[in-house]
Amino acid sequence: MGPKDKKRTGKPFPKGRQASDADIAAVRALVGDVEPGRDQLIEHLHTLNDHYGYLSTGHIAALAHLLGLAQIDVYETATFYAHFEVGDTPPAPITLRICDGPACRMAGAKALLKDAMAAFDDQVQVSAAPCQGACDTPPSAIMDKIRISSATVEKLTPHNNAPSSLPAINDIPLPSAPDIAKAVSKAELRGMGGAGFPVARKWAFFDGAPNPRVLVVNADEGEPGTFKDRYLLETEPEKVLRGMLIAAQTLNVQDVFFYLRDEYPHIHAMLVDVFKRMEIDGVTLHLRRGAGAYICGEETALLNSLEGKRGQPRNRPPYPAKHGYKGRPTIMQNVETLYWIADIADRGAEAYVSEGRPRFYSLSGRIKNPGVYRAASTTTVKGLIDMAGGIVDGHRFTAFLPGGASGGIFPARFEDKAMDFGVFEELGGFVGSGALTVLSDHDDVWDVARTLAAFFMDESCGKCTPCRIGTEKMLGLIDNPRGNADLIHELSNAMRDASICGLGQAAPNPVLSLLTHFEEDDR
Ligand code: SF4
Repeated sequence: MGPKDKKRTGKPFPKGRQASDADIAAVRALVGDVEPGRDQLIEHLHTLNDHYGYLSTGHIAALAHLLGLAQIDVYETATFYAHFEVGDTPPAPITLRICDGPACRMAGAKALLKDAMAAFDDQVQVSAAPCQGACDTPPSAIMDKIRISSATVEKLTPHNNAPSSLPAINDIPLPSAPDIAKAVSKAELRGMGGAGFPVARKWAFFDGAPNPRVLVVNADEGEPGTFKDRYLLETEPEKVLRGMLIAAQTLNVQDVFFYLRDEYPHIHAMLVDVFKRMEIDGVTLHLRRGAGAYICGEETALLNSLEGKRGQPRNRPPYPAKHGYKGRPTIMQNVETLYWIADIADRGAEAYVSEGRPRFYSLSGRIKNPGVYRAASTTTVKGLIDMAGGIVDGHRFTAFLPGGASGGIFPARFEDKAMDFGVFEELGGFVGSGALTVLSDHDDVWDVARTLAAFFMDESCGKCTPCRIGTEKMLGLIDNPRGNADLIHELSNAMRDASICGLGQAAPNPVLSLLTHFEEDDR
């Protein structure tokens, strides 16, 4: 039917693709009676994707109809996130994602991927995936929301990391807001998500902020090599959640959003259960999942994701404390930061300071006992390696990554440097979320840099040109790094100066640190 037909019949007619009654009924049966708007869009996409295994044109049209959105709004969000399968052909019924992060590659992930592709028929869709936060039990894989840990295809077994049970968190009295604000300031607690911003200063941005205010818990640790937040939510969730309650009360918020990365389905199941039982006076709790986008660990990208949009960072100012979730004053805290807020509330700032302002480090790679270690923030690289039992037998320590993919790669001669904020910055790197990945003479540092460059290219959200194009160019230049050194420096300067967010600004770090700190023939 076209414009002429309208003239002929005299009746209004719909334009563009229409949602069919059958699709609307099918989608409604799954998502229920939904509120209009895109607030819950990503959760609804999860529901459909979990049920059908993919998102068809019909599903997208029907969901858009039910939410009162344009179909393009739903489509652009669905296609942004790696965990949604968008298309009209149903994929294989089972999805197996094998981690491609540095620690998993060292443990044979590449061979596992190849074996899995050869071993499974068209009932299983096998693909490589970015770091799944399981660098302590590599190589990691996730099969249809079940975490897997094994070195061979034959032995793929569910990973036993169910979270501990929770006591009644609500029954423990909370400290008064002025007391905890004073203690956090005295302890000089810093954010543990990566940036290390002082918590007391962040909270001060809320002075005089109007209601309704928002607290967001960032549980989207995606920095390769980082798995401490997963560990804390598995082993001491009650302490993290207590920190959340204390922060919510101190900041006088009306909504708390807990944004959890999709790679931790076992923790999601635990939180669904806990949130049903948790209550905070005057506060609404919301549990949300990411959908496989590293960039959503960035504060403003996460806010866009919470609003049901593509997870692209926002220009700042305005800062989230003034104009955050849906324009409301918003403070975001990382999981580990909340743990320390609870710790400081219970044991006092003095205990925290006297223990050297401890933090949790994620240790992986060529060490005997990979895992999460609690240590003073002045602990050196060597000190942490010793805590993890030393280098594995038959290997010689050659290099390390102090801060995941973004923090640079450094030779072993820097092993006496402290894994603290402000130390590696002088050398062109940083500690960030405290993810130490140890390399040996069995590893090629340039191969590691190539893997990280490919990771940044894949994860660039595409919003700004220096990052979108720069990460791709950087990957090409690594094949001849010394010959391309001038170009690499020029490109890096452009990326650092002109990228909107930390991803584009830090993406050159692995390559630059190798050019600066390694000898020409170091591999
Ligand atoms: Fe997106 Fe990269 Fe720009 Fe960040 S720097 S906004 S990830 S394109």
